[in-house]
Amino acid sequence: MRIAVIGGGINGLCSAWRLAKSGDDVTVFERARVMEATSAASSKMLHGGLRYLETGQFLLVREALRERDAWLARAPRLTRPLPILLPVYRSSRRPMWMLAVGMKLYDLLAGKSRLPKSEALTREQVVTLAPTLKTDDLLGGFRYHDGQMDDRRLGLWVAEQCRQAGVVIKERVAVGSVSPDGRLTLATGEPLAFDQILNIAGPWAEKLLTDSGIEPRYRLDVVRGSHLVVACPCEHALLLEVPGDKRIFFVLPWKGRTLIGTTEVRQPLDAPIACSDEETDYLLKAYNHFHSRPISAADIVETFAGIRPLVKSAGDPTRARRDYAFQRNGKLLSVFGGKWTTSLALADKLKRRLH
Ligand SMILES: Cc1cc2nc3c(=O)[nH]c(=O)nc-3n(C[C@H](O)[C@H](O)[C@H](O)COP(=O)(O)OP(=O)(O)OC[C@H]3O[C@@H](n4cnc5c(N)ncnc54)[C@H](O)[C@@H]3O)c2cc1C
Repeated sequence: MRIAVIGGGINGLCSAWRLAKSGDDVTVFERARVMEATSAASSKMLHGGLRYLETGQFLLVREALRERDAWLARAPRLTRPLPILLPVYRSSRRPMWMLAVGMKLYDLLAGKSRLPKSEALTREQVVTLAPTLKTDDLLGGFRYHDGQMDDRRLGLWVAEQCRQAGVVIKERVAVGSVSPDGRLTLATGEPLAFDQILNIAGPWAEKLLTDSGIEPRYRLDVVRGSHLVVACPCEHALLLEVPGDKRIFFVLPWKGRTLIGTTEVRQPLDAPIACSDEETDYLLKAYNHFHSRPISAADIVETFAGIRPLVKSAGDPTRARRDYAFQRNGKLLSVFGGKWTTSLALADKLKRRLH
């Protein structure tokens, strides 16, 4: 089959790779360069997503944990297992027993993982692992493992696998509109025809449908997430609660520096995707709340931001959000949402729908 994939993020590239390996003739259309949008602005985690346990999304967590392990095995030079410390304070919104249940469940859902199981830590053990953490009302904590990746380089590696499998990647070629009969029109006005079109334009998938006069079945809520990279090295990866909030944030080692993120700010799709001063303050404040060696804006070497497409049903936008969803219109299949970690699982599902 001749297949057009719109979007050169990780979901588009993984889908193109899978389809080309099963014999399809695949062309990827990317309006900018591949791996330059959301997929290169992630928290760099290959993870099941501990917080999804709170909303009962066990199947999603199980799938993501398997995919985490698969990425670690597939690309060992661009990924690594990452031990993460979860300190628990008297003021923590989640009590020790609840976190202990969560950790057990996470281990259980990970099945026969090569990564070590989680462990409960005493207050002293937490301090030994992260000596600059404030200890005032520290009770103890947990240590668990997930994966870390270089998202952009790993995605470029997937792009290379695509090319080797025969995929044609057209960069700086924007698609203006798509049609259920397999025709698409480039932004230049050039018409092209395919047996199948996959709209995998990430946060822009809904817009491509509406620009094409097709009613989207799902709504994408656009939520910006920003990160800071600060100069100091990170003594241990941390998962922490934002003070006074149930939100969590990460403090992670990143190329000899420390990565802090992320935020959640609703924004219009066409607003600039950049870390605001308020988000910078929010992240610095959250970090300093827990650390005895405070950091300031002067320590920041880089900031970056991406937009999460949160999927809601168009019929009932208040319904629980989903990780990803598909919409079929004749020869056009659109993907709404989809995590980095689960991009190959999503590609497998797409392949099954097409073949
Ligand atoms: C702050 C943040 C942190 C995250 N952290 C993690 C994490 O740690 N782990 C994890 O698993 N997931 C994480 N995610 C989620 C993950 O990054 C995204 O779900 C994933 O990268 C989405 O990939 P995508 O290919 O669907 O979209 P994108 O990477 O956005 O790719 C879509 C592409 O489509 C192109 N495009 C759009 N319209 C057109 C058009 N008309 N014609 C041609 N091309 C077009 C765009 O230029 C873009 O390159 C995070 C997300 C955010 C925002």
